[in-house]
Amino acid sequence: MANIRVCARLRPANSKEDGEALCFTRSDSQCFTLQDEKDEHYMFSFDKVFYEDSEQADVYEFLARPIVTDAVKAINGTIITYGQTGAGKTYTMEGAGILETDNHKKGLLPRVVDELFEAINFCGETAAYKIKLSMSGIANRAVGETQMNMASSRSHCIYIFTVQKEVANEKRVSIGKLVLVDLAGSEKVEKTGAEGRVLEEAKTINKSLSALGNVINALTSGQQGKANHVPFRDSKLTRILQDALVSTIVSFELHLEGGSSQTALLCCCSPCLCNFSESLSTLRFGARYITY
Ligand code: ADP
Ligand code: MG
Repeated sequence: MANIRVCARLRPANSKEDGEALCFTRSDSQCFTLQDEKDEHYMFSFDKVFYEDSEQADVYEFLARPIVTDAVKAINGTIITYGQTGAGKTYTMEGAGILETDNHKKGLLPRVVDELFEAINFCGETAAYKIKLSMSGIANRAVGETQMNMASSRSHCIYIFTVQKEVANEKRVSIGKLVLVDLAGSEKVEKTGAEGRVLEEAKTINKSLSALGNVINALTSGQQGKANHVPFRDSKLTRILQDALVSTIVSFELHLEGGSSQTALLCCCSPCLCNFSESLSTLRFGARYITY
């Protein structure tokens, strides 16, 4: 069975939300209650909840660090941010920008890079490492200052790190794959009366997000010892994530040793009542996968 941790992050209210009512009440570091304008309550429990005052470093420590250190040991991992546009997915993944230097704001990506190199320096092994990062999309995504958010919310952004380790005497190469996914906005564009290309894109996005949901569900609900059908082929997104979600250790002889993979899903939400219904659906997406 896949090893998956699901967390939620409620970002601080922004200047556009000044004076807006909030829609959640904290219980503790794992539970909180969401309430709508009719004062109906929905209680949620996650592996960890990051509230408005959480630090980027806290999110990294809990969500990413164990997965990053495992990638060096050739155990595959995936870190996914999910949520409506403006919920804080990219802020969590990158920081206020991909080249963020403010340590306080630095997102997961620059921390992952730091830790990968640190882990290699301190592993104490005489091995040759190669780290590769594939991502060819920022230019396509960032089509202009004002369209930036629209463009990024209409596409998934996938960063694939491959950590290859070669131990000279062992004639063995092991590869750990670490995939970070900043998903397209999960809001239901159909409902807002979108037409033409935007509507077609929205349908494709919703289809791939639900395919991702089905894949994670199949990976987490399988009975021990029994192979479960995992519908990886239902979308391009799940096909790309397939080998990070199921771990393999590859040797020179292409002998598959297997191993476990780790996945972390972060459900990002606005804290405000005006975004209640999107937050509810985001939290419900994640709540399905909590394994106690
Ligand atoms: P998304 O990628 O989900 O569409 P963003 O990450 O771009 O949303 O966040 C929207 C805005 O909110 C950005 O201006 C971002 O800097 C800000 N923001 C998001 N999360 C936080 C946070 N935890 N703390 C401070 N600002 C945040
Ligand atoms: Mg974004």
